[in-house]
Amino acid sequence: MSQEREGEIFRDAIRRLDRAAEFAAIDGEALEKLRHPKAVLQVSIPVRMDDGSLRVFQGFRVRHDDTRGPTKGGIRFHPDVNLGEVQALAFWMACKCAVVGIPFGGGKGGVVVNPKELSRMELERLSRGFIEQIADFIGPETDVPAPDVYTNAMIMGWMMDEYSKIRRQRTPGVITGKPIPLGGSLGREDATGRGAYYCIKELERLNGWEPKEVRVAVQGFGNAGQHVSRLLHADGYRIVAISDSQGGVFREAGLDIPNAIALKTQRKSVADVYYTRSVCDCPVCGCVECHCDPQGTATGAVITNEQLLELDVDILIPAALENQITVENAHRVVAPTIVEVANGPTTSDADDILASNGTLVVPDILANAGGVTVSYFEWVQNRAGLSWSEDEVHERLEQIMSREFLAIHEMMTKRRIDMRTAAYAHALNRISQAIEAQGTSSYFSASRSSG
Ligand code: GLU
Repeated sequence: MSQEREGEIFRDAIRRLDRAAEFAAIDGEALEKLRHPKAVLQVSIPVRMDDGSLRVFQGFRVRHDDTRGPTKGGIRFHPDVNLGEVQALAFWMACKCAVVGIPFGGGKGGVVVNPKELSRMELERLSRGFIEQIADFIGPETDVPAPDVYTNAMIMGWMMDEYSKIRRQRTPGVITGKPIPLGGSLGREDATGRGAYYCIKELERLNGWEPKEVRVAVQGFGNAGQHVSRLLHADGYRIVAISDSQGGVFREAGLDIPNAIALKTQRKSVADVYYTRSVCDCPVCGCVECHCDPQGTATGAVITNEQLLELDVDILIPAALENQITVENAHRVVAPTIVEVANGPTTSDADDILASNGTLVVPDILANAGGVTVSYFEWVQNRAGLSWSEDEVHERLEQIMSREFLAIHEMMTKRRIDMRTAAYAHALNRISQAIEAQGTSSYFSASRSSG
């Protein structure tokens, strides 16, 4: 990808800031500060491969803004990661932490790699190598990484161990999303999906929805996509479509989500979970919408990721990567409600099309904030030497998600703006208060004149 295109995702992210600023109490200088990352680090990570050869991987860590607290945000391993994307993700993290009112700024990291091509030992050497390169940039009081796309608790465990070795001091608070025996928090694993689920429960209350009548399509069946599907399915919601990078499946009568999760874990791809030869492939009777499948496997039509986004459903949940709903396909997206579990699935020009169609978009910086909220709980527990029960984590998470959802929903209704603009304005108000409290130029000129 050209550097120009890489930078576009960050510029597009910043556009949302400018749009929201007119609804927030923030001055021009504070806004200007937020348009630029505080610090950017690019590193090369030499890794000895299993066959004895040496490969050098590229990695990034960006700290966008730390006015409200240490920068916070995940590390992703993906072949298409680039600096512009990591900058956008770091900016979104700063807004996300402000949206839920947790005392963190925003950061993000990425390594250019397809982790599926590495052995476990190579993956461990790469994870430790990345920490070695960024050790002086991160820390429990400065910048606290976590899992993101294609990274998980096991990788966070290796990274925490590596950092602790470098510092010669066990430092669990340097990273969140760790395995439970290494200081991870109960309830962190499903927190992103659960946070989105709590947002949908608020919509259910506001709109008087009957779950069994609500059809949902979920793009992306990784950690967050699986958990939000599982929780909604357990409440009776009809999950009619799911997908992953290999493709998706649709079944009007609803999919058997626990079974899909079990099969996805075994077989690694959603497409394999179903009968991929034809849409009329029920092993019992060959019909499309079949209820007679002996295993209870959801027999359904195979669809592409693009088709999934355009399905006639009540709730669309993009839970994969950025830039899925764009100016090209936004006018074909007919779901009246979109809940953004992925970071940045909708571009800013697609927002305008969705808004003119009256689509309600619960924006990423609110809908997927459950993950970082429980990361904050993990960091608090590590520092206080506590361990909270799963129920306590769920209760605290629900309280925060519901409170912030309702505050943003109220601002949206009162100011007659879309929910994304309201969420950004809500975040900007909190960031601006912190910048003000630190001392702005008007503060200094005021103190000069009074002194
Ligand atoms: N990667 C997650 C996100 O994008 C979690 C970040 C964290 O827990 O720090 O929100």
